[in-house]
Amino acid sequence: MKLGVSRCLLGDKVRFDGGHKLDHWVVDILAPRFELVPVCPEFEAGFGVPREAFRLEGSPQAPRMVTSHSRRDVTDQMNAWCAARVEDLVPLGLRGYIFKAKSPTSGLRNVKVYDQGGVPSNSGVGLFAAAFVKRFPLMPCEDEAQLALPEVRSKFLENLFIYDRWLTLDQQQPGALAQFHADHKLLFQTRGPAPARELGAAAAAGDWQAYQTGLRRLFDRQGARGAQTAVLQKTLGFFRRQADPYERASVGASIEMFRQGHVPLVVPLTLLRHLLGKYPDPWLARQHFLTPPAEELQLRYHP
Ligand code: SF4
Repeated sequence: MKLGVSRCLLGDKVRFDGGHKLDHWVVDILAPRFELVPVCPEFEAGFGVPREAFRLEGSPQAPRMVTSHSRRDVTDQMNAWCAARVEDLVPLGLRGYIFKAKSPTSGLRNVKVYDQGGVPSNSGVGLFAAAFVKRFPLMPCEDEAQLALPEVRSKFLENLFIYDRWLTLDQQQPGALAQFHADHKLLFQTRGPAPARELGAAAAAGDWQAYQTGLRRLFDRQGARGAQTAVLQKTLGFFRRQADPYERASVGASIEMFRQGHVPLVVPLTLLRHLLGKYPDPWLARQHFLTPPAEELQLRYHP
Protein backbone atom coordinates (compact mmCIF):
# COMPACT_ATOMS: atom_id res chain seq x y z
CA MET A 1 0.00 0.00 0.00
CA LYS A 2 1.09 3.54 -0.72
CA LEU A 3 0.75 6.28 1.89
CA GLY A 4 1.28 9.97 1.30
CA VAL A 5 3.31 11.72 3.99
CA SER A 6 4.46 15.25 4.72
CA ARG A 7 8.08 15.09 3.70
CA CYS A 8 9.54 16.79 6.79
CA LEU A 9 8.20 13.86 8.89
CA LEU A 10 10.68 11.60 7.10
CA GLY A 11 13.60 13.64 8.40
CA ASP A 12 14.19 15.56 5.17
CA LYS A 13 15.36 19.11 5.83
CA VAL A 14 12.66 20.92 3.90
CA ARG A 15 11.13 23.13 6.58
CA PHE A 16 11.22 26.91 6.32
CA ASP A 17 14.13 27.04 8.77
CA GLY A 18 16.09 24.27 7.06
CA GLY A 19 15.09 21.75 9.71
CA HIS A 20 12.94 18.61 9.74
CA LYS A 21 10.32 17.02 11.95
CA LEU A 22 11.41 13.37 11.89
CA ASP A 23 8.67 11.12 13.21
CA HIS A 24 10.07 7.81 14.43
CA TRP A 25 6.81 5.87 14.15
CA VAL A 26 6.49 6.87 10.50
CA VAL A 27 10.12 6.12 9.68
CA ASP A 28 10.73 3.03 11.84
CA ILE A 29 7.36 1.27 11.75
CA LEU A 30 5.50 2.43 8.65
CA ALA A 31 8.36 2.92 6.16
CA PRO A 32 9.38 -0.79 6.09
CA ARG A 33 5.75 -1.86 5.55
CA PHE A 34 4.28 0.77 3.22
CA GLU A 35 5.50 2.62 0.19
CA LEU A 36 5.67 6.19 1.44
CA VAL A 37 5.11 9.01 -1.04
CA PRO A 38 6.68 12.20 0.36
CA VAL A 39 5.22 15.59 -0.48
CA CYS A 40 6.45 19.00 0.67
CA PRO A 41 4.12 21.57 -0.89
CA GLU A 42 6.11 24.67 0.08
CA PHE A 43 9.38 23.24 -1.25
CA GLU A 44 7.87 21.68 -4.38
CA ALA A 45 5.95 24.87 -5.17
CA GLY A 46 9.29 26.63 -5.47
CA PHE A 47 9.63 28.59 -2.24
CA GLY A 48 13.06 27.14 -1.47
CA VAL A 49 14.85 26.14 1.74
CA PRO A 50 15.30 28.09 3.92
CA ARG A 51 12.38 30.42 3.25
CA GLU A 52 10.34 32.98 5.08
CA ALA A 53 7.67 31.37 7.23
CA PHE A 54 4.04 31.53 6.11
CA ARG A 55 0.87 32.03 8.08
CA LEU A 56 -2.85 31.98 7.37
CA GLU A 57 -4.91 35.14 7.70
CA GLY A 58 -8.52 36.21 7.30
CA SER A 59 -11.47 33.84 7.20
CA PRO A 60 -10.82 30.29 8.49
CA GLN A 61 -13.09 29.00 5.68
CA ALA A 62 -11.06 30.69 2.92
CA PRO A 63 -7.83 31.94 4.46
CA ARG A 64 -5.08 33.84 2.68
CA MET A 65 -1.54 32.53 2.94
CA VAL A 66 1.03 35.26 3.48
CA THR A 67 4.69 35.47 4.43
CA SER A 68 5.01 36.33 8.10
CA HIS A 69 7.19 39.45 7.84
CA SER A 70 7.31 40.70 4.26
CA ARG A 71 3.51 40.23 3.96
CA ARG A 72 3.63 38.68 0.49
CA ASP A 73 0.32 36.99 -0.41
CA VAL A 74 1.04 33.61 -2.05
CA THR A 75 -2.47 32.17 -1.78
CA ASP A 76 -3.23 31.99 -5.49
CA GLN A 77 0.16 30.53 -6.34
CA MET A 78 -0.14 27.91 -3.62
CA ASN A 79 -3.76 27.01 -4.38
CA ALA A 80 -2.95 26.56 -8.06
CA TRP A 81 -0.03 24.31 -7.19
CA CYS A 82 -2.15 22.28 -4.71
CA ALA A 83 -4.91 21.75 -7.29
CA ALA A 84 -2.40 20.36 -9.80
CA ARG A 85 -0.50 18.26 -7.23
CA VAL A 86 -3.55 16.43 -5.90
CA GLU A 87 -4.41 15.44 -9.47
CA ASP A 88 -0.85 14.10 -9.89
CA LEU A 89 -1.44 11.91 -6.85
CA VAL A 90 -4.64 10.29 -8.19
CA PRO A 91 -2.97 7.58 -10.32
CA LEU A 92 -0.73 6.54 -7.41
CA GLY A 93 -3.69 4.98 -5.60
CA LEU A 94 -2.74 6.20 -2.12
CA ARG A 95 -4.49 4.42 0.76
CA GLY A 96 -3.93 7.13 3.36
CA TYR A 97 -2.04 10.29 4.19
CA ILE A 98 -0.10 11.50 7.22
CA PHE A 99 0.09 15.27 7.49
CA LYS A 100 2.34 17.50 9.56
CA ALA A 101 0.18 19.03 12.25
CA LYS A 102 -0.43 22.77 12.52
CA SER A 103 1.38 23.74 9.32
CA PRO A 104 -0.32 26.53 7.30
CA THR A 105 0.15 24.28 4.27
CA SER A 106 -0.04 20.72 5.55
CA GLY A 107 -2.03 21.01 8.80
CA LEU A 108 -5.20 18.94 8.82
CA ARG A 109 -6.98 20.80 11.61
CA ASN A 110 -6.56 23.48 14.28
CA VAL A 111 -4.14 25.55 12.19
CA LYS A 112 -3.70 29.14 13.39
CA VAL A 113 -5.59 31.70 11.33
CA TYR A 114 -4.91 35.37 12.22
CA ASP A 115 -7.71 37.89 12.09
CA GLN A 116 -7.33 41.54 11.02
CA GLY A 117 -6.18 42.49 14.49
CA GLY A 118 -3.46 39.83 14.41
CA VAL A 119 -5.25 37.59 16.88
CA PRO A 120 -4.94 33.88 16.04
CA SER A 121 -7.65 31.25 16.32
CA ASN A 122 -6.89 27.55 15.97
CA SER A 123 -9.60 27.03 13.40
CA GLY A 124 -7.96 26.58 10.01
CA VAL A 125 -6.83 23.86 7.65
CA GLY A 126 -3.59 24.09 5.66
CA LEU A 127 -4.06 24.88 1.98
CA PHE A 128 -2.65 21.61 0.68
CA ALA A 129 -4.45 19.51 3.31
CA ALA A 130 -7.74 21.21 2.40
CA ALA A 131 -7.26 20.54 -1.32
CA PHE A 132 -6.27 16.94 -0.61
CA VAL A 133 -9.24 16.13 1.63
CA LYS A 134 -11.61 17.70 -0.90
CA ARG A 135 -10.14 15.58 -3.72
CA PHE A 136 -10.02 12.34 -1.66
CA PRO A 137 -12.96 12.63 0.74
CA LEU A 138 -12.96 8.98 1.84
CA MET A 139 -9.23 8.48 2.25
CA PRO A 140 -8.03 8.00 5.84
CA CYS A 141 -5.96 11.06 6.78
CA GLU A 142 -4.36 11.96 10.08
CA ASP A 143 -1.58 14.11 11.45
CA GLU A 144 1.47 12.92 13.35
CA ALA A 145 0.41 14.65 16.57
CA GLN A 146 -2.88 12.74 16.73
CA LEU A 147 -1.13 9.53 15.67
CA ALA A 148 0.95 9.69 18.83
CA LEU A 149 -2.24 8.63 20.67
CA PRO A 150 -2.52 4.80 20.62
CA GLU A 151 -6.30 4.75 20.09
CA VAL A 152 -6.08 7.19 17.14
CA ARG A 153 -3.21 5.20 15.65
CA SER A 154 -5.15 1.96 15.91
CA LYS A 155 -8.23 3.52 14.30
CA PHE A 156 -6.14 5.03 11.50
CA LEU A 157 -4.50 1.67 10.71
CA GLU A 158 -7.86 -0.12 10.78
CA ASN A 159 -9.24 2.50 8.42
CA LEU A 160 -6.33 2.08 6.00
CA PHE A 161 -7.01 -1.62 5.60
CA ILE A 162 -10.79 -1.14 5.34
CA TYR A 163 -10.23 1.55 2.71
CA ASP A 164 -7.85 -0.71 0.79
CA ARG A 165 -10.43 -3.50 0.69
CA TRP A 166 -13.10 -0.99 -0.31
CA LEU A 167 -11.02 0.28 -3.24
CA THR A 168 -10.31 -3.22 -4.50
CA LEU A 169 -13.96 -4.28 -4.32
CA ASP A 170 -15.40 -5.27 -7.68
CA GLN A 171 -18.58 -3.18 -7.92
CA GLN A 172 -19.79 -5.20 -10.91
CA GLN A 173 -19.77 -8.46 -8.99
CA PRO A 174 -23.26 -9.39 -7.73
CA GLY A 175 -23.43 -9.45 -3.93
CA ALA A 176 -20.04 -7.75 -3.52
CA LEU A 177 -21.38 -4.98 -1.28
CA ALA A 178 -23.36 -7.37 0.91
CA GLN A 179 -20.31 -9.62 1.32
CA PHE A 180 -18.04 -6.66 2.10
CA HIS A 181 -20.44 -5.57 4.80
CA ALA A 182 -20.91 -9.07 6.19
CA ASP A 183 -17.14 -9.56 6.49
CA HIS A 184 -16.73 -6.28 8.40
CA LYS A 185 -19.83 -6.59 10.55
CA LEU A 186 -18.11 -7.20 13.88
CA LEU A 187 -15.35 -4.71 13.13
CA PHE A 188 -17.89 -1.99 12.33
CA GLN A 189 -19.81 -2.74 15.51
CA THR A 190 -16.71 -1.85 17.54
CA ARG A 191 -17.28 1.75 16.35
CA GLY A 192 -20.74 1.76 17.91
CA PRO A 193 -24.12 0.35 16.89
CA ALA A 194 -25.43 3.44 15.03
CA PRO A 195 -22.84 3.62 12.20
CA ALA A 196 -22.90 -0.17 11.85
CA ARG A 197 -26.70 -0.07 11.46
CA GLU A 198 -26.52 2.75 8.91
CA LEU A 199 -24.03 0.76 6.83
CA GLY A 200 -26.14 -2.38 7.18
CA ALA A 201 -29.19 -0.58 5.78
CA ALA A 202 -27.20 0.81 2.83
CA ALA A 203 -25.75 -2.64 2.10
CA ALA A 204 -29.21 -4.25 2.24
CA ALA A 205 -30.51 -1.63 -0.22
CA GLY A 206 -27.48 -2.12 -2.48
CA ASP A 207 -26.91 1.64 -2.27
CA TRP A 208 -23.18 2.12 -2.94
CA GLN A 209 -23.33 5.91 -2.58
CA ALA A 210 -25.05 5.77 0.80
CA TYR A 211 -22.64 3.06 1.88
CA GLN A 212 -19.64 5.23 1.02
CA THR A 213 -21.15 8.14 2.96
CA GLY A 214 -21.68 5.84 5.95
CA LEU A 215 -18.13 4.56 5.65
CA ARG A 216 -16.83 8.14 5.80
CA ARG A 217 -18.74 8.68 9.03
CA LEU A 218 -17.53 5.38 10.43
CA PHE A 219 -13.90 6.27 9.67
CA ASP A 220 -14.27 9.27 11.97
CA ARG A 221 -15.66 7.21 14.84
CA GLN A 222 -13.30 6.03 17.52
CA GLY A 223 -13.78 2.44 18.68
CA ALA A 224 -15.14 2.61 22.24
CA ARG A 225 -14.13 0.12 24.91
CA GLY A 226 -17.78 -0.61 25.70
CA ALA A 227 -18.63 -1.37 22.07
CA GLN A 228 -15.46 -3.46 21.69
CA THR A 229 -16.33 -5.42 24.84
CA ALA A 230 -19.85 -6.07 23.53
CA VAL A 231 -18.43 -7.42 20.25
CA LEU A 232 -15.95 -9.65 22.11
CA GLN A 233 -18.74 -11.07 24.26
CA LYS A 234 -20.92 -11.59 21.21
CA THR A 235 -18.05 -13.44 19.52
CA LEU A 236 -17.55 -15.64 22.58
CA GLY A 237 -21.25 -16.45 22.39
CA PHE A 238 -20.62 -18.21 19.06
CA PHE A 239 -18.68 -20.88 20.95
CA ARG A 240 -21.18 -21.46 23.75
CA ARG A 241 -22.04 -24.96 22.52
CA GLN A 242 -18.61 -26.30 21.53
CA ALA A 243 -16.26 -24.66 24.06
CA ASP A 244 -16.05 -26.26 27.49
CA PRO A 245 -16.78 -24.24 30.64
CA TYR A 246 -13.09 -23.72 31.39
CA GLU A 247 -12.42 -22.29 27.91
CA ARG A 248 -15.45 -20.00 28.09
CA ALA A 249 -14.52 -18.83 31.59
CA SER A 250 -10.90 -18.03 30.72
CA VAL A 251 -11.83 -16.08 27.59
CA GLY A 252 -14.65 -14.38 29.49
CA ALA A 253 -12.17 -13.36 32.20
CA SER A 254 -9.82 -11.85 29.61
CA ILE A 255 -12.72 -9.88 28.10
CA GLU A 256 -13.55 -8.56 31.55
CA MET A 257 -9.91 -7.57 32.10
CA PHE A 258 -10.01 -5.74 28.79
CA ARG A 259 -13.25 -4.00 29.80
CA GLN A 260 -11.58 -2.79 32.97
CA GLY A 261 -8.55 -1.55 31.02
CA HIS A 262 -6.05 -4.05 32.47
CA VAL A 263 -5.10 -5.74 29.17
CA PRO A 264 -5.14 -4.57 25.54
CA LEU A 265 -7.72 -5.72 23.01
CA VAL A 266 -5.26 -8.13 21.44
CA VAL A 267 -5.35 -10.39 24.54
CA PRO A 268 -9.02 -11.50 24.38
CA LEU A 269 -8.83 -11.33 20.60
CA THR A 270 -5.97 -13.85 20.55
CA LEU A 271 -7.86 -16.22 22.86
CA LEU A 272 -10.93 -15.97 20.62
CA ARG A 273 -8.74 -16.72 17.60
CA HIS A 274 -7.54 -19.87 19.39
CA LEU A 275 -11.16 -20.91 19.97
CA LEU A 276 -11.89 -20.31 16.30
CA GLY A 277 -8.94 -22.53 15.36
CA LYS A 278 -10.29 -25.29 17.57
CA TYR A 279 -13.98 -24.84 16.68
CA PRO A 280 -14.11 -23.55 13.09
CA ASP A 281 -16.98 -21.31 12.05
CA PRO A 282 -17.10 -20.12 8.43
CA TRP A 283 -18.87 -16.80 9.20
CA LEU A 284 -16.49 -15.90 12.03
CA ALA A 285 -13.50 -16.96 9.95
CA ARG A 286 -14.33 -14.19 7.46
CA GLN A 287 -14.64 -11.47 10.11
CA HIS A 288 -11.85 -8.91 9.71
CA PHE A 289 -12.26 -8.06 13.38
CA LEU A 290 -11.17 -11.55 14.39
CA THR A 291 -8.99 -12.73 11.54
CA PRO A 292 -7.22 -9.79 9.94
CA PRO A 293 -4.15 -10.57 7.81
CA ALA A 294 -1.01 -11.03 9.95
CA GLU A 295 0.52 -7.71 8.88
CA GLU A 296 -2.67 -5.82 9.79
CA LEU A 297 -2.85 -7.49 13.20
CA GLN A 298 0.83 -6.87 13.86
CA LEU A 299 0.61 -3.20 12.93
CA ARG A 300 -2.58 -2.53 14.84
CA TYR A 301 -1.08 -3.83 18.07
CA HIS A 302 2.52 -2.75 17.61
CA PRO A 303 3.64 -1.15 20.87
S1 SF4 B 1 4.80 20.91 7.00
FE1 SF4 B 1 4.40 20.48 4.84
S2 SF4 B 1 5.10 22.30 3.77
FE2 SF4 B 1 6.01 22.37 5.81
S3 SF4 B 1 8.01 21.41 5.60
FE3 SF4 B 1 6.57 19.80 6.22
S4 SF4 B 1 5.90 18.91 4.31
FE4 SF4 B 1 6.83 20.87 3.78
